[in-house]
Amino acid sequence: MTRFPSLASVQDAIVSCERCPRLRAYCARVAREKRRAFRDEAYWGKPVPGFGDPRARLLLVGLAPAAHGANRTGRVFTGDGVGGSGDFLMSALHRAGFANIPTSRHPGDGLTLTDAYIAAAVRCAPPGNTPTPNEIARCRSHLDAELAALPRIRVVVALGKIAFDAFLRLLAERGLTVRPHPRFGHASVAALPNGQTLIGCYHPSRQNTNTGKLTAPMMDEVFRHAARALR
Ligand code: SF4
Repeated sequence: MTRFPSLASVQDAIVSCERCPRLRAYCARVAREKRRAFRDEAYWGKPVPGFGDPRARLLLVGLAPAAHGANRTGRVFTGDGVGGSGDFLMSALHRAGFANIPTSRHPGDGLTLTDAYIAAAVRCAPPGNTPTPNEIARCRSHLDAELAALPRIRVVVALGKIAFDAFLRLLAERGLTVRPHPRFGHASVAALPNGQTLIGCYHPSRQNTNTGKLTAPMMDEVFRHAARALR
């Protein structure tokens, strides 16, 4: 019988990781100094593991925690403000039937995901939301381990090109070369040789959602593709 690592052990390994001194120092400093609006809160300040349904068939891969969002709350796509990327993503997941509420404000908000799990390419908040190539490469083993602990995953939605490329690189490291090489684009759909489907999606950052580069109907299109691939 194939043995999979337990999701809890993978998450513990992520939370205690110290492999990137620059990112660990930055997250700790942000957690110490805090933003004025959150000065009475205890920041998480550690690497952020994934969140969601351990039996998920849909995996979402984001970029990295936000300094005052997930680095503060300890849950991916959580706490980056009303109408921020967490709310935007969760409202789309709620419309598609994967989330029980349309917002993601704090870890005690009662949010649960069904058949979906959210991970990230990088687990520590990077300065300027920009991890270095070495940091992305170093963190990929955590995504690999989390994926191994989620054996039912059939569809992967990559939120942004960095997540898209990180997932393809991970497959290559597992010996799975995808030809022709899928190109990132919003709502791009690629059938992978391992039977999974990889879907591209613009990242739901405020930069994209406030400018109209990414709209709610565009998110719905991505999750329609995902639902079709899961059927
Ligand atoms: S970014 Fe990833 S590899 Fe680097 S310290 Fe954080 S959890 Fe570890």
